[in-house]
Amino acid sequence: QAKELGRNQYRLFDEEIDRQYVRRMELERDLRKALANEELFVCYQPKWDAKENRLIGLEALMRWRHPELGLVSPAEFIPIAEETGLIVPMTRWMLRDVCAQNRNWQKRRMANVRISVNMSIRVFEGGALAQMVHDALESSNLDPSLLELEITESIAMQEVADTVEQLQQLRALGVHVSMDDFGTGYSSLGSLDELPIDVLKIDQSFVRQSAMESKQAIISTIIAIAGHLKLQVVAEGVETQEQIEFLLSRGCSIMQGYYYGKPMDTKSIEQWFMDNQVSGQLMRVK
Ligand code: C2E
Ligand code: MG
Ligand code: MG
Ligand code: MG
Repeated sequence: QAKELGRNQYRLFDEEIDRQYVRRMELERDLRKALANEELFVCYQPKWDAKENRLIGLEALMRWRHPELGLVSPAEFIPIAEETGLIVPMTRWMLRDVCAQNRNWQKRRMANVRISVNMSIRVFEGGALAQMVHDALESSNLDPSLLELEITESIAMQEVADTVEQLQQLRALGVHVSMDDFGTGYSSLGSLDELPIDVLKIDQSFVRQSAMESKQAIISTIIAIAGHLKLQVVAEGVETQEQIEFLLSRGCSIMQGYYYGKPMDTKSIEQWFMDNQVSGQLMRVK
């Protein structure tokens, strides 16, 4: 009987593997049409300065509404986009859309902030990123200082694709660069000072556990490094008042997380802008 049970478990296991494989193939097939079918859209999440009590930026996050499956998580479709190379045209579209939207908000005097876009390692391959960014800025006539690119430690550590040189070109355009999910990668601390970056983003896994003394030590250290290297520091995944108080006490005042606002589509974030508008500036009256 135990043997029978074992066989059944194997079958369930196999079926699960099959199901995952089929879904993955379907998603890959459908992702190829997503851009042309206008199934992709952008959500915006506030970056809030908790000391000055004002909006200081937004992060643009990609969303895919699949015609049958509904919203598919970026955790699922971004890796597929990266493996297939689809991430390149998707990022090109994203940059254009975000720059145009930002210029639109600026003209309508709804918001005047820097918006960041996430960059995958794949868009650095072939060396066409600077041109892509240049085109997006030019077509929207957006001030380059209102665009930020979020990279990860793995990108900065790649020696193959001369990424550091590309980042330097991008910064020469006036674009800002931030290091996302800092502390979770395998970059060596010893060359952080050589990277052309402006911002360190403390990974949300540290913030989530910031009641733990050991995580507090890590957060404090990241804040101190940022201070010494004259980098701005942003805490990600801020959800509670306790986390805010802790971060403020250690000298980090720029925060991003559900406490201040979840990623919102264009319509919702415009409403959010209006709800938080005080004397022409975006202020939170919470
Ligand atoms: P990320 O760049 O580190 O973005 C932050 C993620 O944390 C977002 O997830 C955001 O919704 C989530 N988040 C923000 N605040 C909180 C919070 O308080 N609590 C919790 N639990 N989560 C919070 P999202 O939108 O699902 O994106 C996941 C990842 O997918 C991103 O991580 C980024 O690496 C990638 N991604 C998203 N959009 C793009 C894109 O346009 N291009 C590329 N290459 N990657 C993207
Ligand atoms: Mg990011
Ligand atoms: Mg992050
Ligand atoms: Mg992340």
